[in-house]
Amino acid sequence: MREYVVGVDLGGTKIEACLLDGQRKCLDRQRVFSEASKGMDHVIDKILHLIQAVSGNKSYAAVGVGTPGTFVETEDRIYGSPHTPVYHTSGFIPSLKKKLSPCPVLVDNDANCLAVAEFFAGCKGKYHSVMAVILGTGVGSGLVLNDRLYRGPRGGGGEIGHMSIDFNGRICECGRRGCVEAYLSGPSHSRRFFDLCGQKLQIQEIYKLYQEQKSYAIELFTESVKMMGETFANAVNVLDLEAIILGGGVSNLPIWYENVPRLMNNLLFGVPRDSIPILKAKLGDSAGVFGAAYLALRELGLMEF
Ligand SMILES: [Zn+2]
Repeated sequence: MREYVVGVDLGGTKIEACLLDGQRKCLDRQRVFSEASKGMDHVIDKILHLIQAVSGNKSYAAVGVGTPGTFVETEDRIYGSPHTPVYHTSGFIPSLKKKLSPCPVLVDNDANCLAVAEFFAGCKGKYHSVMAVILGTGVGSGLVLNDRLYRGPRGGGGEIGHMSIDFNGRICECGRRGCVEAYLSGPSHSRRFFDLCGQKLQIQEIYKLYQEQKSYAIELFTESVKMMGETFANAVNVLDLEAIILGGGVSNLPIWYENVPRLMNNLLFGVPRDSIPILKAKLGDSAGVFGAAYLALRELGLMEF
């Protein structure tokens, strides 16, 4: 008998789902708007319809869910997703599980899902310890250490986005000062550029000015490159990582791959090592939903991580 699983990726504005078989082959993938402002029951209905739509007449053995924020397993609850309050309503995950019962539902952070998906897409066998970073509306990250996803005892491990790189620095949306997210997310680039020269632009527009050698844009991206290099060097120094993978909308800018590796590699401490690569996510925007489905495949004993 062939086994099928469903992966669900809960995004800020969209929900995506896929159907995979036991060999990780994708048979269908669809996305819809979450319409989160209509409340928890509405979002749960949307998820159930989407699962029905991708699975069709095939019966699935488990469902994996990737979500912003941190999933605390002992409480069956998601914490810390300020952009998507509906997901951290208490009762959201229990209610979804009840509707899907007796099918097992596995939940994890979206950056952890990205890390697992990208690890299997391009790293396994070559590297054993990597960090995957989502650069988008926020900055999230997930860790695979010694071929295993690292969640930590409460599920909050690997959150480099809220590591402070300047304790007198910019105020982050989490309330702390100098978080990586307060500098390197898409909206943070827009805010920093506005503070520099009074222009309100999206990061892609600022990058175009950078390519045209405009001085404020050069100043902004020079600082971003330095901050990213310092941040990733900190992570490598702490965890002895072998590679860093970037995903999310902001990761599409070539500057990160051209300028950050040399700077970062010059900041590494201690042991002699090969230079650490910064890699672009291979699966593009499919990584999150595939990683969520991998949680389900692991539950069935078809994957190990
Ligand atoms: Zn923060």
